[in-house]
Amino acid sequence: EAEEAAWSDEDLEARPPVVTVMGHVDHGKTKLLDAIRSTDVVAGEAGGITQSIGAYQVRVSVGDERRPITFIDTPGHEAFTAMRARGAEVTDIAILVVAADDGVMPQTIEALNHAQAANVPIVVAVNKIDKEGANPDKIRGQLTEYGLVPEEYGGDTMFVDISAKQRLHIDELLEAVVLTADAALDLRANPHSDARGVTIEAKLDKGRGATTTVLVQQGTLRVGDPIVAGSAYGRVRAMFDEHGQVLEEVGPARPALVLGLTSVPSAGDSFIVAPDDRTARQIADKREAAERAALLAKRRKRVSLENLTDVLKEGKVDTLNLILKGDSSGAVEALEDSLLKIDVGDEVALRIIHRGVGAITQNDVNLATVDSAVIIGFNVRPAERVAEMADREGVDMKFYSVIYAAIEDVEASMKGMLKPVYEEVALGTAEIRQVFHSSKFGSIAGSIVRSGIIRRGTKARLVRGGVVVAGELTIETLRREKDDVTEVREGYECGINLGFRDIAEGDVIETWEMREKPRD
Ligand code: GDP
Repeated sequence: EAEEAAWSDEDLEARPPVVTVMGHVDHGKTKLLDAIRSTDVVAGEAGGITQSIGAYQVRVSVGDERRPITFIDTPGHEAFTAMRARGAEVTDIAILVVAADDGVMPQTIEALNHAQAANVPIVVAVNKIDKEGANPDKIRGQLTEYGLVPEEYGGDTMFVDISAKQRLHIDELLEAVVLTADAALDLRANPHSDARGVTIEAKLDKGRGATTTVLVQQGTLRVGDPIVAGSAYGRVRAMFDEHGQVLEEVGPARPALVLGLTSVPSAGDSFIVAPDDRTARQIADKREAAERAALLAKRRKRVSLENLTDVLKEGKVDTLNLILKGDSSGAVEALEDSLLKIDVGDEVALRIIHRGVGAITQNDVNLATVDSAVIIGFNVRPAERVAEMADREGVDMKFYSVIYAAIEDVEASMKGMLKPVYEEVALGTAEIRQVFHSSKFGSIAGSIVRSGIIRRGTKARLVRGGVVVAGELTIETLRREKDDVTEVREGYECGINLGFRDIAEGDVIETWEMREKPRD
């Protein structure tokens, strides 16, 4: 960084924008990336054989100039945010693809939230205009509500109507990307220093060893350079572009496939050039140790509702970022409305960086990691392996089934009352193995207790595929063999009547109790 401060303005040269394509599933992201790739004249000259290396560059005519643009070949905001979670800020501009016959969908909004959270300008590609029922104006109207106001309506977002399939208006879209970059960003880099950048993807190839696609962000990478990428190291043995052409050197915003690393780095790992092989190895070893230490430290310093006051005092944050997930859009909206009404004074701001319906996903945790957000789950649970990941990353997740309990917690946390007012204490969980229907007793859940203790008379909820399907139930009767019992412990089978018909094999019964926490 000190080196960077010493660069004078003259060292900096314009560099191409790096673009990621995002949008709802099936709206045409992959088709668009294919269409863009095929506009490239260089590909034609090289015989048209492009190999996918994770990124590619094309050139577009803007006025009298030919301007390069670099595309990241993995569509979707998941990859984008996964990279950010590793500290890699790669994307300069996002193309948001919206199918004109389908309209704005949940993942359109999610993509939009992710790009906005990263402060990345958006160009909207209204796709599938060749289809019957395409209504590009409707898309413009819908996105205006999310703060993307089309230029033609006085806003500053460029919308381009395209057909990825028929390759209509792809050049116009690319031109819009260049114009947006020129207007909103000052994209310059110093090509004269040692190279550094980011790993886009990496694989182990049987014949060639580790094949690593890097994006150079500063400087120029040359064959023979000793490099470190994440905790992998080696010497650049050969480099190729996306057409399989051999490269001797690679400048800023240019992706290249690099051979020569002794192990495989992860997507999002940064790379640097080291003075010599030995130093490269030492840096790699140090990084590995540092990564382990950082992981531990990260877990200690993340924002949670409990430690908000402390992190505010330390000046680490001035905003409480929240991610809201719920079982219905109505619930999420109600929660959001109530949260935004909390009067918190000037000390701290509250920002809802993402909201959505459904179980808490890996993607939510990645976003929470990047923006130090707390995840609030309303009648939803983390999907498989997500709780583990959140724990590893130190991301705070809170679950509620009553809105006011969530509001009280957030308010108490923001006002520095230290502890949440209500606390849900888990008692035990049971998994339904078999369902019996009887006219006399209703639906009986033949279950096995998976954790803790199931007690007759406690509150219960039914969770199916990570989503709470019924929240306000009670363990009405509890039987072992033929006997009524008051409790059953972990590992034992039992019959549970929840007084609720819609139960299914595989459902999880959670029992809990609300304990009031004394304020101190
Ligand atoms: P992705 O999930 O966003 O990557 O979507 P794909 O690129 O896989 O496209 C989904 C489907 O929509 C495929 O069957 C495409 O052929 C089709 N499709 C994509 N773009 C267009 C388009 O401009 N017009 C029409 N008619 N179909 C398209």
